[in-house]
Amino acid sequence: MAGVAAHSSPSLSVDEHLARILEALEPLEPVAVPIADALGRTLAVDTFARVDVPSFDNSAMDGYAVRRSDVLGATADAAVQLRVVGDVPAGSGSNPPLEAGQAARIMTGAPMPDDADSIVPVESTDAGTTTVTILQAPEPSAFIRRVGSDIRQGQLVLPAGRTLRATDLAAATAAGLAELVVRPAPRVGILSTGDELRMPGETLERGQIHDSNSVLLAAAVTEAGGMPVLFGAVPDDNDLLYESFERMADRVDVFVTSGGVSVGAFDVVKAVLQPLGVWFGPVRMQPGKPQGFGRWLDGTPVFTLPGNPVSVFVSFEAFVRPALLALQGRTETRRTLVHATAGSSWSSPAGRAQYMPAVLSETSAGPVVVPASPGGSGSHLVTSLARANALAIVPEDVTSVHEGQAVDVLLFGVPESGDHA
Ligand code: AMP
Ligand code: MG
Repeated sequence: MAGVAAHSSPSLSVDEHLARILEALEPLEPVAVPIADALGRTLAVDTFARVDVPSFDNSAMDGYAVRRSDVLGATADAAVQLRVVGDVPAGSGSNPPLEAGQAARIMTGAPMPDDADSIVPVESTDAGTTTVTILQAPEPSAFIRRVGSDIRQGQLVLPAGRTLRATDLAAATAAGLAELVVRPAPRVGILSTGDELRMPGETLERGQIHDSNSVLLAAAVTEAGGMPVLFGAVPDDNDLLYESFERMADRVDVFVTSGGVSVGAFDVVKAVLQPLGVWFGPVRMQPGKPQGFGRWLDGTPVFTLPGNPVSVFVSFEAFVRPALLALQGRTETRRTLVHATAGSSWSSPAGRAQYMPAVLSETSAGPVVVPASPGGSGSHLVTSLARANALAIVPEDVTSVHEGQAVDVLLFGVPESGDHA
């Protein structure tokens, strides 16, 4: 088996591999969902207000609805008394007629009586209930929220492509909508491969390890707006792996596998998928060199990631996350790019872009980045990975980073604060 990859496919750069992936994918078909289920989904269509907001003139204050002509000269020294002829709480449909010298008590959000033209806040009165003393004349139309002053029926409330936040859902609800048309969460089938893999917490025999990739990928998929469908660890057995794909295919929109794609003797993923036309080849990156992308028999896209957990994470960030965002109709699929200064020196392989798990700190001198693992970029250093909040990207042709040098950093966590030693 050794040497197969070397002559089977030419290598791709990270950008080339990502471009091929994004070219191959279309956003998922839109679905209408109840507003309460739309958080984090991406809106598929321009969405317009069904009603005027507010849908009626209403009071902005607790106070009294008055005819302004009755109270024009009112001051604390020359107070004006009005008869209170009605109460209009919020939600009330009542519309008390007001004659000269009359007022209605009104609460915030309650509809403005047709005969009133101004609101006097309760603070400018004696708060009376049968008669009220007005201590200050209102401005014209004071404290009235006008119909349609927020948005008019038929106006755009949320544009297509918007990733919905709590405030968007509130806006859509206020504008009369009960459902939104969104791209669904991609269902992502997660398959780990390896005879050595055991469940979280299981006692390990010699040679065994815990299946951290399934946990990592499920969480990363969720963070990217997808819905993980866990299949657990499949032993290194071609037939079992084939059956797993077959059983899951109509339940998922995408497959992500880990392990079994390099040039070892038991590389099941490659053995099962390469005959089906899935592309396997080296991508000029470190870690994450052995990659694969293609389709299962029914057309479901398949990402085959390497096995080492750090490689899995970097590969997910570089390829799977952008793809999952694109499937959701997102146009911006990149992480925030930060121009940082190297806080230490490290080396990088020639001819491969390095994606170094790193810690980015905001310091008085600007953003500073250092590798997350003092031991370097070992792709098996999974607990060091937990310290990282960023990936430092060192271009293919750069073989060493010197302290003080400029480095591009993709931020996936929260920057640390403070000055690095
Ligand atoms: P492979 O490409 O299958 O040879 O895997 C490369 C390395 O990653 C090996 O050391 C595996 O034990 C390790 N590995 C593979 N799958 C997982 C997993 N699901 N969780 C943790 N480590 C894994
Ligand atoms: Mg393996």
